[in-house]
Order: sequence, then C-alpha cells, then structure tokens
Amino acid sequence: MAEYDLVCDACHEPLATEDAVISWTARDGAESGFALTHAAHAPAGATEKLAVRGVVSPNGYLRFVNERVGSRIADTEPLRAILSALAPFVMRPDNPTEMDSMRAASFGARLGVKPGTQPSALAGGAQEKQEGGK
Ligand SMILES: [Zn+2]
Repeated sequence: MAEYDLVCDACHEPLATEDAVISWTARDGAESGFALTHAAHAPAGATEKLAVRGVVSPNGYLRFVNERVGSRIADTEPLRAILSALAPFVMRPDNPTEMDSMRAASFGARLGVKPGTQPSALAGGAQEKQEGGK
C-alpha cells in the first residue's frame, strides 16, 4: 500500500480519492461525526456529504478548512485525522516546486532568489538578531 493511500473509516479497505466522501452531521450550529469513507459507506445519519475529489486540490482543501474554522465541532479528532490523511494529496512532498527547491539548495541557492543576490538590510538585520540570540 502506497504512503498516500486512504482507508475507509467504515470498512477499513483502501479508498481511492475518486470514490471517497467526507460526511458529517450539522445540527444546531455544531458539526460532529466526521468520517472519510467510500461513497456507499457514509454513515446513514450524516446530514452533509462532500466528494473528496473536490477537497484534494489546494483551493478545495483551503475552502474545506476555512469552512470548519470557527465552526463548533463536537469531536475534533476525526476531522484532524481526515485533514492529515488528505494533506499529502494537496501538498505532495514530491511536487515539482519542492524538487526545484531541493535542487537549488544542493548548490547553496534558494528557490526564487537570483544567484548572487545579497540579502536586504532588513533581512540581514533579522539574521544577526537570530544569531545573537544563540
Ligand atoms: Zn468502505
């Protein structure tokens, strides 16, 4: 099983993002019972269902997180587990930007910074401060 594979909360079988739904119950302004399951295995009592394929893009993930922040959530642990399980699909550690930053670091450069660029006075000051704190 690959590192990124999901598991259904109901049947504990592997779960593809295309077949997965996040479901929960919204009642009296509070949310509870978050579950990540096959579409067919969502808890019967759930009032909300969201296809995971829409949540594993950066915008979809951010929208889902933003909608939860500030909500009253009865049991945060299942939601935390779902956010952790989906995060690698959104922020893949092997994505091209990460690879480029590692390649740049291999010869002492930083991604997005022209070689030979000197840090600004402000950045330099921040660095000195940090070193002074050692
Ligand atoms: Zn299942």
